[in-house]
Amino acid sequence: MMTLEELKRLPLEAERAASAAKNQAELRQAEIRFLGRKSELTLFLRDLKNVPKEKRSLVGRAANETRVRLVEIFEEHTHRLTESLAPIDVTLLGIQPRLGHSHLVSQAIEEISAIFKEIGFKRVRHPEVESDWYAFESLNMPPDHPARDEWETFFMDHSGNVGDRFVLTPHATSGTARVLATRQLPLCVINIQKCYRRQSDVSHVPMFHQFDGLYADQGVTIRHLKGVLEYFVKSYFGAKREVRLRPHHFPFTEPSFEVDISCGICSGRGCRLCKEGWVELGGAGMLHPNVLKAAKIDSKKITALAFGWGVERTLLMRSGLEVPDIRILYENDLRFLEQF
Ligand SMILES: [Zn+2]
Repeated sequence: MMTLEELKRLPLEAERAASAAKNQAELRQAEIRFLGRKSELTLFLRDLKNVPKEKRSLVGRAANETRVRLVEIFEEHTHRLTESLAPIDVTLLGIQPRLGHSHLVSQAIEEISAIFKEIGFKRVRHPEVESDWYAFESLNMPPDHPARDEWETFFMDHSGNVGDRFVLTPHATSGTARVLATRQLPLCVINIQKCYRRQSDVSHVPMFHQFDGLYADQGVTIRHLKGVLEYFVKSYFGAKREVRLRPHHFPFTEPSFEVDISCGICSGRGCRLCKEGWVELGGAGMLHPNVLKAAKIDSKKITALAFGWGVERTLLMRSGLEVPDIRILYENDLRFLEQF
């Protein structure tokens, strides 16, 4: 009968014999030698009953562990020989990684920037946390103005002596106020940024994007404004679309307009969707003298046109996409996003 020492050497010997096997037949021969009916291990297990009782469980456990290890060794080498039989086809295609693409809102931002760039608008970027002054006060919205409603706006807690309240940018127009105060005239800029409001329902998301254009110089008039809007509308929505300015009120522009474009479905004749042939796009106007004054600009010498509206809205208007819930844009559901 083998000693315990000899038993513990078996896996090493089996490993050596299995590695030397060049095919399955040789491996089976080696396996029979180590695990077959006449193998040393089988004989050892059979003789276990002759081992004194007090040692039997210890020796039995060692023998069984050795058997499990030997079975593993021969399984591993069976795999090795099976795999080496399969020819390697170097002409097979590799595993192709999944390719993503820009989010449809990012695509729209790129496209809108490119259109305005063609007519001289430079894209600018601003902080997403803005002071009360640039977000409201300098835009002709005094402290009691309803647009500052706590329920619509994310005011920030901050420590230190900054002396002003801070807010997550509620609209892209705060960028216009900032650029007027901090940069040299003439200015021809487009600001596209994230905006935050306390709203979430089928037609509102708490984070969305707006773009806000500004052209400030001597002699800028409403005719320039109409020209810029027409250029954008025809580039983005198509050459056949018309632009209409409708008088309106905004605190930071005077005069102010709502910008309508002719309906893409009925071409302005009037249909179930648009009623009278026009659909509303966004707001525009000539900057209010108080806004220029807040930026220490002489409103008698300088005039400025401004316009702006939501990127998501513009995107959905062109695509004709009828989403039952606008929040789907930001749910990151690939089944939806992969379609664009
Ligand atoms: Zn229509």
